[in-house]
Amino acid sequence: MIVALAGGVGGAKLAQGLSLALPPDDLTVIGNTADDMIHFGLRISPDLDTVLYTLAGMANPTTGWGIAGDTTRTLDLLKRLGAEDWFLIGDLDFAIHIRRSALLAAGQSLTAATAALTRGLGVRAAILPMCDEPVATVVETPDGPLSFQDYFVRRRHQDPVTAIRFAGIEAATVPDGVAAALASAEVIILCPSNPLVSLGPILAVPGFRDRLTAAPGPRVAVSPIIGGRALKGPADRMLAGLGHDVSPLGVARLYRDFLDGLVLDEEDAALAAEIEALGLRTLVTRTIMGEADDRRRLAVETLGFARSLTLVARAGR
Ligand code: GDP
Ligand code: CA
Repeated sequence: MIVALAGGVGGAKLAQGLSLALPPDDLTVIGNTADDMIHFGLRISPDLDTVLYTLAGMANPTTGWGIAGDTTRTLDLLKRLGAEDWFLIGDLDFAIHIRRSALLAAGQSLTAATAALTRGLGVRAAILPMCDEPVATVVETPDGPLSFQDYFVRRRHQDPVTAIRFAGIEAATVPDGVAAALASAEVIILCPSNPLVSLGPILAVPGFRDRLTAAPGPRVAVSPIIGGRALKGPADRMLAGLGHDVSPLGVARLYRDFLDGLVLDEEDAALAAEIEALGLRTLVTRTIMGEADDRRRLAVETLGFARSLTLVARAGR
């Protein structure tokens, strides 16, 4: 089993590359649920949906999230009826949220509901939520605490972030399926997602990091930071604001307690030596993913790199 940890748009691109590079049943993607919210009474899981739509080949190619060709007639009418429209939900998108909410209301776990949606859309990879308990990212800003989608979507991630916490994380547990996937992982890949708010919550589920460290296969990450910037979103400003290096080296430091190797972009080749000095191996390649072929290419290179790593004791731990 190949296990990938993914947030939203950045993570989903590499997850798709992996799904194209591997036999259909060999991929398990563990997704972030700390961005989830209840909106219009529906349970919305933005990161799981981005992975789901991307693996199903349905994602909007322009945004990376939402469904290609979707329309907003439902949201438009909701707005006329007085509802808020700052969180964009397409007409087809609504179907997913309605179905998920119904399955949860009928007593299914988020894991089971997600499996049903995944099957329904014909996706062969397993998509597993990081936990079944509700967890919510709270972003502390000079204007006070903001819920994640308030910060990210409504306020367009403009606020300086002074702290991040995951409300409810203490009560979260690693689901059996996640534990089983980690225990049998040939390779674990941390996709290029925001380290603080996309992969951070997954790593913060009590017991997750220990299981990751104990997994049999090597653990490699692909840096979401290239040339001192995030390709999209606030990861660069968040890292800087919280005192981290905005570089693959900063990413390596965040994961160094469990990571075996880091894939970094050609643009950052000069940092490879310093990352290796932390006790990690590195692969320098082109890491900006375009269309499917390109995603597949980076997935193949990352898998090859991971498989080449021998699990000898590493310096600096
Ligand atoms: P979100 O939940 O939709 O914000 O998505 P993620 O957390 O999964 O992804 C956001 C991160 O993906 C940003 O830090 C981007 O720099 C990174 N990213 C997006 N596209 C690419 C890409 O093609 N290559 C790499 N290396 N990183 C990317
Ligand atoms: Ca997200």
